Amino acid sequence: MDFAFDARTEELRAKLLAFMDEYVYPAEAVAEEQRAALASPWDTPAVVEELKAEARRQGLWNLFLPDAEYGAGLTNLQYAPLAEITGRSPQLAPTATNCAAPDTGNMEVLAQFADEQQKKQWLEPLLAGEIRSAFAMTEPEVASSDATNITTLIERDGDEYVITGRKWYISGAMNPDCKIFIVMGKTDPDGDDIRRQQSMILVPRDTPGVTVKRAMQVFGYEDHSHGGHAEVIFDHARVPVSNLIGEEGGGFAIAQARLGPGRIHHCMRLIGMAERAIELMCRRAVSRTAFGKALAQQGVVHNWIADARVTVEQLRLLVLKTAWLMDTVGNKGAHTEIQAIKIATPRAVVDILDRAIQVHGAGGVSQDFPLAELYAGARTLMIADGPDEVHQRSLARRELKKYV
Ligand SMILES: Cc1cc2nc3c(=O)[nH]c(=O)nc-3n(C[C@H](O)[C@H](O)[C@H](O)COP(=O)(O)OP(=O)(O)OC[C@H]3O[C@@H](n4cnc5c(N)ncnc54)[C@H](O)[C@@H]3O)c2cc1C
Repeated sequence: MDFAFDARTEELRAKLLAFMDEYVYPAEAVAEEQRAALASPWDTPAVVEELKAEARRQGLWNLFLPDAEYGAGLTNLQYAPLAEITGRSPQLAPTATNCAAPDTGNMEVLAQFADEQQKKQWLEPLLAGEIRSAFAMTEPEVASSDATNITTLIERDGDEYVITGRKWYISGAMNPDCKIFIVMGKTDPDGDDIRRQQSMILVPRDTPGVTVKRAMQVFGYEDHSHGGHAEVIFDHARVPVSNLIGEEGGGFAIAQARLGPGRIHHCMRLIGMAERAIELMCRRAVSRTAFGKALAQQGVVHNWIADARVTVEQLRLLVLKTAWLMDTVGNKGAHTEIQAIKIATPRAVVDILDRAIQVHGAGGVSQDFPLAELYAGARTLMIADGPDEVHQRSLARRELKKYV
């Protein structure tokens, strides 16, 4: 593994860093002001569309997609340092560059598993940033970290499938630009193989029977810039059979394929969040005085800053190693490392954000600094995309296998 980035990565890094300074950070306050003046907080502020147009013009677009037919054609190792930079402004930069979850995972699924007609109808406008999308798997009634528990039904009726179920925490679904749901449900709920009972199907938002019921909160935040996290009801929603992605029974395998890249992208962005937290922590520590000396002169603040720096350097190396493995031996070969970063990164970044909040005093938990919202976002990643304990269980089992 080479420790230097290649020429293309360096060129894109320089461009992206300049784009962040010139356009993204100044737009953070503007986006909030514009959102407050919108008819609905779920609509997209004009400045976000301006950022998208500028990013696209500069070639900072679809950087996440390794398939050059559809995206920038970067390897995971090339994309990692770029995603880290966008993580410094997670409310704006990933959307500006068309690299925001859950669209990224959905575009990957469509690029990999959809047929030509599905690609034309849904992948093309997503790649162009004209629409948004959501991924609907989790259900309030069952422990959804175990995907075999899902109860939503996808029943065949002639030339149609009928979808019935209740989902929640469906990210992006509150945004009216979210035009398509990739829904995971069961086509064969009584099948012998519990991993072949599930299928994935495309359900347009305007399908009769689809109701976006309410916005779920995250520690009180509604995550407007991410399109929220909605509860969605599918009440006998009918779609043509041609909306099935892949084959009946293939849903579990598609979900597994979707989650590998999604997990590493979250970790890359989390490192960017940690870098922003360290920067804010240092700026605050040198600019505030308590009991006759700057906060930066307190030994305990030194410890927090030093520990944060050491942690970020460790995490970045593990994330880059994971990206390199995904590129060289595939997602399956990088399974242990993907789980390792998914376990290690959110909890470490939560800890760093917690210290940065502490250094800011009341300001740290306020709306005047991004720390509290970053904290809420990082904390949820110990649950979303599979809770820590599920990854620990599977990683430990694989480790133990060597000795049995
Ligand atoms: C902000 C946010 C955004 C989300 N976005 C989406 C989305 O876009 N689409 C979507 O479908 N879902 C989404 N989710 C849902 C998320 O994927 C689920 O919450 C997650 O998979 C866990 O499922 P659950 O909430 O049903 O928890 P449960 O499955 O009920 O698990 C609860 C707890 O049980 C423990 N546990 C579970 N299994 C084990 C085990 N094997 N060993 C030890 N302990 C265990 C863990 O501590 C776990 O946290 C989102 C969630 C959040 C918070």
